[in-house]
Amino acid sequence: MSDKVVGVLGGGQLGRMLAASAALLNVNIVFLDVGENSPAKQIVSPRSPHLAHIDGSFVDPEKIKALASKVDILTVEIEHVDTNILEEIQSVPGAVIHPSPSTVKTIQDKLIQKQHLQSHQCPVSEFLCIESNVTSIQQTAEKFGLPFMLKSRTLAYDGRGNFVVRDIAQAEEAISALGNRPLYAEKWVPFVKEIAVMVVRSTTGEVRSYPAVETVHKDNICHLVFAPLRSRDPHIAIRAQSIAEAAVKTFQGAGVFGVEMFLMEDGSIYINEIAPRPHNSGHYTIEACETSQYENHLRAILSLPLGSTSLKVSSAAMLNIIGASSNMAEVTNFASECIKIDGCAVHLYGKSECRKGRKMGHVTVVGNSDSEVRSRLRPLLKALPSGST
Ligand code: ATP
Ligand code: MG
Ligand code: MG
Repeated sequence: MSDKVVGVLGGGQLGRMLAASAALLNVNIVFLDVGENSPAKQIVSPRSPHLAHIDGSFVDPEKIKALASKVDILTVEIEHVDTNILEEIQSVPGAVIHPSPSTVKTIQDKLIQKQHLQSHQCPVSEFLCIESNVTSIQQTAEKFGLPFMLKSRTLAYDGRGNFVVRDIAQAEEAISALGNRPLYAEKWVPFVKEIAVMVVRSTTGEVRSYPAVETVHKDNICHLVFAPLRSRDPHIAIRAQSIAEAAVKTFQGAGVFGVEMFLMEDGSIYINEIAPRPHNSGHYTIEACETSQYENHLRAILSLPLGSTSLKVSSAAMLNIIGASSNMAEVTNFASECIKIDGCAVHLYGKSECRKGRKMGHVTVVGNSDSEVRSRLRPLLKALPSGST
């Protein structure tokens, strides 16, 4: 299919599913991650010593250079990487990095990402650049009212950079909870639903979007995804796709992007944030779409024809398996319940340790109707490890 070798910064569950797609296409893939047995590295064994995975951090310049030296194309499964080194590597003739380091750099700072989207007329809700001090937080409360959302500009995931300020007396607590990182503030968005669209962009700039989906978060972590999005106004799904496509067109480079959005009561849509990589809200595409987000990411960065993003089932749901404690047996017992259900595909990520709040796997349920999917899902929701329901 392609004799190009793909190198990936990061080797978690997204890399694991990317590796599974690479194996089907017979594409060589090499991962850089600290864990020598990380989820992605478990999937492919190197075909030659030269293509061995690298043990090290995806923010370590030397390790990133070592990865670059053995592959033809670099990509990321996480945005929190060292983009200065990626820019340096890209300046060497022949080096190929997707999406482009400038895209990852813009997106990895959520304030710069929001400013970028706003300057390209993409719909975003009100936000404010603030200093990490009590006075600044008090001024924000006066401007935005309470509650408002305080967010870390960098290194955020699973809501671990967010603090809901409900009372100005919480200002100091908020700053220390966010670890004195650079911050910005967002006005509280009273959304009726959260929605998401995966978009794939080719090396020639062609974009294709997957169907809009509904995402349900619990404690700031994605809990459930329903595909396709159902709403009284069918135009909402189409509008969400076109907003997501337009946003992705403002960035450089190929690959898939996850566009998280808020749907408001009046039908308007705001972009919450964009991920420059495969995304949790696109896991369902493995079983439910003609081409998965992982395969399309590979096709895009390898300059192969993009695959169809259409659903091939009537309805699908994805349920994350989040650790409830350090007890791994809870996860495996739950997975054993899932495989008893028709239309249910279990994905376990092969993580060596279970922790409360850690993504340990997911389950995709497909069916011929929403009601069939919901009835297949019901016993799974009841069987979830306690604490993660
Ligand atoms: P991810 O794991 O998706 O990268 P993250 O840590 O980057 O998450 P956000 O996506 O910014 O965090 O926020 C997590 C969740 O918090 C959102 O999905 C939404 O439920 C809620 N949220 C975020 N911003 C706001 C806001 N301005 N108003 C209300 N709720 C919000
Ligand atoms: Mg995020
Ligand atoms: Mg998010």
